[in-house]
Amino acid sequence: MNEIARQTKAAQCPICGKATDVAFKPFCSKRCSDIDLNRWLTGVYAVPVNDDEDADGTRPADGDEGDRS
Ligand SMILES: [Zn+2]
Repeated sequence: MNEIARQTKAAQCPICGKATDVAFKPFCSKRCSDIDLNRWLTGVYAVPVNDDEDADGTRPADGDEGDRS
């Protein structure tokens, strides 16, 4: 319980570990905020593409849906 209270009180920058600044929450500065953003972008671009369209090749045919009651 005490630990949680302490953490909420003095949050730390996840990048460098300094105390966070309210202006750049949850970071301590714009620089750390940018660093984190950069990591995010890099991670997103690094995610492999999921080609489930080509996985089984069983997509519903286009244009033949006139049988819907
Ligand atoms: Zn920082």
